[in-house]
Amino acid sequence: QRIVDVLSIPFINTTKDQLVKDMNQRISRNEKTFVVTANPEIVEYANAHPEYKDILMNADYIVPDGIGIIMASKLMKQPLLERITGFDLLHDLLELADQHAYRVYFLGAEQNVIEKAADILQRDYPNMILAGYHHGYISVDDAELAASIAAAEPDIIITALGFPRQEEWVTLHNPLFEKGLFMGVGGSFDVIAG
Ligand code: UDP
Repeated sequence: QRIVDVLSIPFINTTKDQLVKDMNQRISRNEKTFVVTANPEIVEYANAHPEYKDILMNADYIVPDGIGIIMASKLMKQPLLERITGFDLLHDLLELADQHAYRVYFLGAEQNVIEKAADILQRDYPNMILAGYHHGYISVDDAELAASIAAAEPDIIITALGFPRQEEWVTLHNPLFEKGLFMGVGGSFDVIAG
C-alpha cells in the first residue's frame, strides 16, 4: 500500500524516482508541499514528543531515511520499497531546479558553510535560480526573516537547522508562503561544503 506505519509514523511507500516525479508535479502546480525525511532518531523523538509528532503528521510526505525503518517495515510484513535519504532527495530536487529553472532558498548551517555550499551547488546546478540563503543561527520564530524568504518567492525551501527545529520552522512559517516545497536536510550543507 501507499502508506506504511512504522512505530506509528505513516511513511510514504514509493521509490525515490516516483517521489521526485510527484514532487516535480506539485512544484510545477505551485502546490505547497512539506517533506520530512525521518530516520530512527526522528521517529523515536516524535514518539516521545507529541507536539513534534503533530508537526510530522502535517507533512505531505514522511520519507524513510534509514535502513532501520526499512528493516522494521519488513519485520511487520509491510515492506517499504526503498530507503530514501534526505541527502539524495536534496540532489534530485536541485536537479529538477536545474532542469526547470526553479527558485531555491537555503536556510541553515553556519554562515561560512552555507556560503560555500551555495557556491558549490550553484556551480553544480547552473540553471537553478538561487533565490537566496541565510545561516541557521536564528530564532525559530523570527518572523521578519521568514517574511523576507517568502518575498523571494522560492519554489523550493531547504531547511538545515537540524531536527526538530527545521520542521518547527516550516510549520510555523509556511502559512506565509504562497507556494513552495519545504524539506529539512539536517547536516547536508556541512557535507557539501566539506
Ligand atoms: N544548525 C543551525 N542552527 C542551529 C543549530 C544547528 O543551522 O541553531 C545546523 C548545523 O550547523 C548543522 C545542522 O543544523 O548544519 C545540524 O546537522 P545535524 O547533522 O546535527 O542534523 P540532525 O541530524 O540533527 O537533523
